[in-house]
Amino acid sequence: MSTTNLGGLASAQTVTEDPHLRRGSRGFPLLPGGYGRSTYYTGAPSPYAVRGDGYRVWDDRGRELIDANNNFTSLIHGNAHPEIVEAATKALSEGSSWGIPNLYEWELADLLVSRLPALDQVRFTNSGTEAVMSAIRIARAATGRDKVIVTKGGYHGTSEVALVPGGPSYTRGVPQGVIDDVTAVPLNDTDFLRQAIESAPDAYAAIILDLLPNRAGLLRITEDFVRAARELATRHGVVLIIDEVISLRLGYNGFSGAYGVEPDLLTTGKLIGGGFPVGAVVGLGDLMAEVDPTRKGSLPHGGTFSGNPVSMAAGAVALRLYGPDQVERLTRLGDTAREAANARVADAGWEIRGSGSLLRAVPRGAEKVDEQTQHELWWASYDRGLLGSPANLLSLSTPMDDTVVNDLTERLVDAVLAVAASSRS
Ligand code: PMP
Repeated sequence: MSTTNLGGLASAQTVTEDPHLRRGSRGFPLLPGGYGRSTYYTGAPSPYAVRGDGYRVWDDRGRELIDANNNFTSLIHGNAHPEIVEAATKALSEGSSWGIPNLYEWELADLLVSRLPALDQVRFTNSGTEAVMSAIRIARAATGRDKVIVTKGGYHGTSEVALVPGGPSYTRGVPQGVIDDVTAVPLNDTDFLRQAIESAPDAYAAIILDLLPNRAGLLRITEDFVRAARELATRHGVVLIIDEVISLRLGYNGFSGAYGVEPDLLTTGKLIGGGFPVGAVVGLGDLMAEVDPTRKGSLPHGGTFSGNPVSMAAGAVALRLYGPDQVERLTRLGDTAREAANARVADAGWEIRGSGSLLRAVPRGAEKVDEQTQHELWWASYDRGLLGSPANLLSLSTPMDDTVVNDLTERLVDAVLAVAASSRS
């Protein structure tokens, strides 16, 4: 992969080299493939993050990057936001976690439920994956049914049920019984959804939907499909789970609020931990009662670090700082960037999809982008000082303003045009 100069972004900062971070040093072969998460992989040895500040990140190659990865959309306020650092540091100095409940949990639960007024209660987990696992378990326990509907290509973390919509390349190691219990409905195929449920109305425990699935290239779920899912779920006693691990940022009342749909359970994570590990199931009281330990026969749910005070305190500040004005501002910045970039990449056969502060460049009309193209765009962006996710998902953060987002847009357009040109040659 080539690397070019960063021009205007070239850092005056000298990054101190840590020998443990260098590829080929002792640390590298200790992690499978050299990686602590498979989702970091971009097809070639990755740079290592060294430091972040606001909308910028510096890596061990001495580069300064606009951080539009934001740890896979978690850092809604960018890196090391002073108020979040202060809250986390205070909580940490009081003791990092305890084996009895803490009051920070109440605060974050209160903030979440006040934004999701149709829902009653919260149970915290350590990740979005765990939140989805727990929500499915609650739905199965409450209905006494096993089957789950997902949308094809949807991503809901790495629990066994959640891997099924990814297709055969994701389901190695998943028992056939689990696969058989999952029906993957083509995106926005309302007739397919209706037929699946009506052909076995007593079999389905849950429908789980991400309203803006990234793996499907940020193609939106249509309002018609969501309405049908809500109506079928209500009619047949199926639990509607909306997975807002990523999309919660898209509206003050979440993306489901913007759609005007009320889920029975909502799963979330990422931004609600202020950059620390977190997940949450937010739901209707009668369903959440399944994990109420004061009830006889309730579901066991634990997690040594679930609801830990550092994540809760940092998350509460992150949510407070992301009020209606900031939601609206980031949405406008994202919409403007998408419009400007779309006008410039259209002739090259690409488009910028997404909603509000989430953007992704894809070849026009694609429902799936091959991994090689994703990686080429990642490196082309990196070469231009822009850090996205390996699947090219870009998210804005509140330290960004018009100037930064214009700069980000320029880099994105330039990267897309370079990839488009190389695929033609
Ligand atoms: N659901 C969705 C929609 C996600 O995008 C993700 C992760 N990106 C998850 C669940 C899993 O969350 P986590 O990575 O925190 O386990």
